[in-house]
Amino acid sequence: MKSIFYLLLFLPLGVFGHSPQISTFALVRDSKGQWTAHLSASLEAFESALGNKKVSSAEAFQKELIQQVKSAIKIKSGVLQAVTLNDGQCHLGHQTDLKFTLMDLPTEVSTISVENDFFKELNSHFMVFKVINGATESNQFVLQSSNHFSAQVNIQPTGITVDSEQSFNYYYLLFLAPILLLLLLKYPMKKTINVLNLAMLFFSCSTDDSAVTPAASSAEVPAVYKKIYGATSVTSDGKYITIKTKGLPDHKSAYYATTNSLYQAYSGTTFGGLTFAKNPNTIIEQSGTFKIPLKPVMSTNHAATPLGAIGIALNGVPFFNQYAGPNNQELKGEMAGFDQFYGHPQNSGVYHYHVEPLQLTTVKSTKSGLMGFLLDGFPVYGPQEESGSAVTNANLDVYHGHSHETVDYPNGFYHYHFTTEAPYLNGNGFYGTPGTVTQ
Ligand SMILES: [Zn+2]
Ligand SMILES: [Zn+2]
Repeated sequence: MKSIFYLLLFLPLGVFGHSPQISTFALVRDSKGQWTAHLSASLEAFESALGNKKVSSAEAFQKELIQQVKSAIKIKSGVLQAVTLNDGQCHLGHQTDLKFTLMDLPTEVSTISVENDFFKELNSHFMVFKVINGATESNQFVLQSSNHFSAQVNIQPTGITVDSEQSFNYYYLLFLAPILLLLLLKYPMKKTINVLNLAMLFFSCSTDDSAVTPAASSAEVPAVYKKIYGATSVTSDGKYITIKTKGLPDHKSAYYATTNSLYQAYSGTTFGGLTFAKNPNTIIEQSGTFKIPLKPVMSTNHAATPLGAIGIALNGVPFFNQYAGPNNQELKGEMAGFDQFYGHPQNSGVYHYHVEPLQLTTVKSTKSGLMGFLLDGFPVYGPQEESGSAVTNANLDVYHGHSHETVDYPNGFYHYHFTTEAPYLNGNGFYGTPGTVTQ
């Protein structure tokens, strides 16, 4: 209801949508991985940008337009590789649309740099830039007024981010200021942008659906989170992945009640070569709910990890940090209590891992496989890299992670690693902004 109200607020501006004020520039990746570039604006805007030249026919105009737009758009994949714009198609009309097929753009790309200065000569024009990846992936947009703009598009399995210098058209800002102010007062920043995006879509009135259909914020769970096999449920609201778990290990343990089929007495050595010494606790079923960001982002304050669950393993068992109790009590004293799979329950029966979970590194996956996620959404890997080399603290930053490609993140992504040396899983706090957990 509120959205409709704000949309109505914008309605009078819709009139301007038909003047040569706004263009939409979109990069669209279809389900087959083919990229196309779309530029859409009023015919008047295109005519002005071409200097209102006299042309002999509509065909000649189209040809000229395709040629000029083609040379004004520069797309590179990665840092160097220039991408060719092919098959220029032009639909002339009140709303004029151009479409190009992007050749040489790999189906799996991590970054695309984009430049478009087609409308740079126009004064009160600005461009909405968006990236649409498949039917369900998010789109991003940048309001640009300088008309010449360059943006860096980062494509990760978890979503798309766009980095660009934003420079507002002050003329337009003056015009929008009272409404923007109202929105900012009433709404948090993110919602304002959503409403603004909606409004922009509304204005652009393009007939080219593929360029303007907003990507639905869907409940699709990315494949990487479906690897959490031990959860009761894994769902997405488009912003957070919600994982529900009973927290029961899927392997034998000396800490299961003796009546449980997974109970197995244990004697022998455990993590660090210590002689196993059972603690007095017993595993108790939990009802945990982890909410982790769908699109993890680095935080600036790197919040300290709390005691209790700081993440979740693929088998639904929580990860705990490197401390045994308040005031950074050493874990060492607890370690002898780690069972045959290097986990143990605390006094309310919550079973957890502080160190490498053997069930994952030796049974369900490998030493270099995905182990789970911390609350900030960044993935956790085992104590080896895919090359087989052991990971040590020297390979990691102070949060106990680093970035590179993995099987699950072929374009590279930040991730934590378990190590055999302290702090084992996390160092000086979360790399990203943590979600929440309730037990
Ligand atoms: Zn513990
Ligand atoms: Zn790594």
